[in-house]
Amino acid sequence: MTGTAPQYPDPRDENLPRRRSRLRRAAVGGALLPLCLAGWLGWHAVAGGPAAEPAGGAPGADAVAGPAPDDLLTAWPTALPTALPSGSPQPAAAAAPAPAAPTDHALAGRTVLLDPGHNTANGKHTTEINRQVDIGNSRKECDTTGTATNAGYTEAEYTLDVSRRARALLEARGATVVFTQDGDKPWGPCIDERARAGNTAHADAAVSVHGDGGPASGSGFHVIMPAKVTAGRADTSGIVASSHRLGLLLRDSFKAATGEPYADYIASQGLDTRSDLGGLNLSAVPKVFIECGNMRNAGDAKRMTDPQWRQQAAQGIADALTAYLTTPG
Ligand code: ZN
Repeated sequence: MTGTAPQYPDPRDENLPRRRSRLRRAAVGGALLPLCLAGWLGWHAVAGGPAAEPAGGAPGADAVAGPAPDDLLTAWPTALPTALPSGSPQPAAAAAPAPAAPTDHALAGRTVLLDPGHNTANGKHTTEINRQVDIGNSRKECDTTGTATNAGYTEAEYTLDVSRRARALLEARGATVVFTQDGDKPWGPCIDERARAGNTAHADAAVSVHGDGGPASGSGFHVIMPAKVTAGRADTSGIVASSHRLGLLLRDSFKAATGEPYADYIASQGLDTRSDLGGLNLSAVPKVFIECGNMRNAGDAKRMTDPQWRQQAAQGIADALTAYLTTPG
């Protein structure tokens, strides 16, 4: 963006920080996570780690030096050993371990809604995105332009790229992934439509991907979970608990995958709960937002502009959704 870039932070931003979390105790909930999650995180720390840039990096030589892109996309461990069909030859006791299956379908039959925040073309459609929509407990702009780094890398570019990377990881695990927009809409969609997309798809879980436009001195990421809102069209009472579980998993998984610290200028221990986001208020499926970093902070901006870091961010999001969908609530 050049001279036409909006002033940041945009006070109309769906995600503009409005208050600090009153749910500090939510962070304590991390200690109460099921042991199965702790085990998974342990596995991730050993076997996962930051994923390398898949295809698109240096071709050829990588095929010998490192794992193939497919391996990177299917790093999620299978919950059960693969059963051999009856009559199959049994492996000799001393044989080398069988190669990993080409794909892991841990998420087969599951539907995930990914919501890339904003739209790169919103700035050219101010009339449309400024239209007020009903979010249950108030009215709010249809959508906003989002923020950007000082160098002009926009939040909308960031959110779409990370969401696409996460989609590749989730689809490799067998999930059906639905997008609210895939760079295929002239603007928006509006925040109420973004919520409706997850409801219509009967998504098992939904994540809205964002980058924040906070004070330049602040850095770090945070996850936003829905407050209990029962007003007008909004009724989050059925998703507060499940979204909280998803939020804790996303907070932990994102930190493990990226090394990004919790935000030091908003939220508490990387967690916030809000009642002013239409995308959460109108959701009937478990849903959280993630502000992956502060694009107005030099350090965060540098990381968020790096494709390899964005792959790690996508890994964190995909791993959290996988954990949410494969561990008991
Ligand atoms: Zn945003």
